[in-house]
This record gives sequence, C-alpha cells and structure tokens, in this order.
Amino acid sequence: VSACESEKEQAVAPGHSTSSQKVKQADGEKIKVGFTMDTLVEERWLRDRELFRDAVRALGADVEILAANGDDVLQIAHAESLISQGVDVLVVVPHNAEATATIVKKAHMAGIKVMAYDRLVKNADIDMYVSFDNEQVGELQAEAITQLVPKGRYVYIGGAITDNNAHLFKKGVFNVLQPYIDSGDITVVFDQWTKDWTPANAKENMRAALKANNNQIDAVICANDATAGGVIEALAEQGMAGKIPVSGQDAELAGVQRIVEGTQTMTVYKPLKELTQTAAKIAVQMAKGETVAINRKVNNGKIEVPSVLLPPIAVDRSNMDETIIADGFHSREDVYKK
Ligand code: BGC
Repeated sequence: VSACESEKEQAVAPGHSTSSQKVKQADGEKIKVGFTMDTLVEERWLRDRELFRDAVRALGADVEILAANGDDVLQIAHAESLISQGVDVLVVVPHNAEATATIVKKAHMAGIKVMAYDRLVKNADIDMYVSFDNEQVGELQAEAITQLVPKGRYVYIGGAITDNNAHLFKKGVFNVLQPYIDSGDITVVFDQWTKDWTPANAKENMRAALKANNNQIDAVICANDATAGGVIEALAEQGMAGKIPVSGQDAELAGVQRIVEGTQTMTVYKPLKELTQTAAKIAVQMAKGETVAINRKVNNGKIEVPSVLLPPIAVDRSNMDETIIADGFHSREDVYKK
C-alpha cells in the first residue's frame, strides 16, 4: 500500500452538471450509463458485465455495454458511439492504459464524465477510479509464496505491459521480495510480461524460464489465474506441476479447482459484487452531478484521481470455504468437482 494514498474517507464534488444532465433530471428521464470493456476473455469479465448491468438497473438507470476484444481502435470507436448516443456517464475498462486517454478527452468535449473501472487510465483527466488495491494484490501473492519458499530461485510471470494493473501487481510483488533479494535468499531468475494476459503466452514464457534454468526453479509468482494455468501446463510437461508453489488471482473456477487439486497454491479473490455495486452507485451519482465519497487519491501521471479502492483477499485451500464458497462466488460442488 503506497504511503501517499490516504485511507481516510473523503468527499469530492464532481463539478457542475452539464446542461443535458439538468434537462434529463427535470424530465425525469432515466440516467444512461455507457460501459466500454476491453475484453470478455477471462472469466471474471463476464461476471463484471452481468453484475454491473444488474447493479445499474437496480438503481433505476439504464446501461449500454460494449466489449472490444483487446482492440484499442475498436474500444475508442465503442466509446465514441456511446458518447454520440448521449450516455450520461462513461465507465471504461481500458485495454491500453495510455491509448484510452483519448476516450476521456472525447467524453469531456461532450460534457460526459468518465470513470476508470478496475484498470486506471493514465495521463488523462479521468474523473474517478474504482478498483481493488492492486499493489496489495501483488503483496498478497508474494507473501503467500515466500512463506512457503523463503529461499530459492523465483520466476515472475507478469500481466500485460499495456495494463496499468500489471505494473501495480508487479510493484506489490517486489515490495515483498526485495528484502529477500537484498539478503541473497531469493534470486529472481526470470521475469517477463505476458502479452495480452493469455495462458498460451504465459506457457511459452514458463517453458523458456525452465529451459534457461535447467528446471532449477523453486517458486513461480503469476499475476493471475489465466497466466497460472499456462505456467502449470509448462510445469506439467517437466513433471513439476504441484511440486513448486504457484500464485494466481481472480478466483477463476479453473484456478480454485487447481488449488484443491494441489497444482496451484493460492489465488487472490476480488469480490466483484462489491466492485460492481460501488462502481454503479458512483456512476449514477456522477451522472446526476452529486458528491461522491472516495477513500484514496491515485496519481495517473497527470492528476491525483479521486478513487475508491477495495481490499483484495488471499485465498488458499484453508480459507476457500469462508471466502469464495461462503460468498457464492463458486458453489462447493463446482470447486470440489474434479
Ligand atoms: C485485472 C485482473 C485480470 C487481468 C486480465 C487485470 O487488469 O485486474 O483481474 O485477471 O486484468 O484480464
């Protein structure tokens, strides 16, 4: 957790409403939220989409959702289309942290406020950021793995370099690893980003890591469950799956099943219901020009972005029941099916 971010509840006035907002409210017309997503590839995003839609509708507002298949140009086109449809607020899950700054500019030109959802938009006057504490995600991963392997040869398989979260996850991991590295107990023998977060690219990276080190690897910190899946396949090819710890994130069904089966050590569970409900509530407040409660300010390279960051939860075999299963994120039958 970075020191510059204050934990206190703060309130921020999102500025004056545009004339179109005033007209809408006077007419009693429904607020419309535009949601532009990067991708629906990882299991979590399908859940974000559904939960966010439900949360917005429960607040009596409408929502239009588009997903861009990891294509920056398409995501910008989607945003333009939502802006021209006259949405009252735009919520963005950026594929590319930098490229999406143009979306913020275009929305502002039309008098529409923009929220970054889960992933930050860099170098833009973004109005709001709602996510989990992503640096803490990395810290939880590294804490779990260093507890099991306090000395040894580590591999770090990161996320997509274009995703600001991937940088925060890595920062968190190295916050924890650094003292071990300094004392010489841990050596990071391979450290690589994973293009577009795909399991196939993570698998290729892990194959390269094993080859370059003659399989002399004691632990792998993976940024999420998707990359962990690819890494575990590469370990299995060498008969090493389940023999060394591997971290993940997202509590994907396949990830938690691997935890039960013993090939993956832990995941970081992020309660998406809380995220979607918080984001939906704030989006509607922004659309109405109301004051929004925040708990952080996060620097995006241009401004201190008013933010709400929720706490992530480390999950392994020992607390699966009281977290993921108790919340109904996955059913007990599904988790223990294999
Ligand atoms: C999200 C993770 C997700 C990854 C790949 C990150 O920005 O925070 O939950 O696994 O993107 O989609």
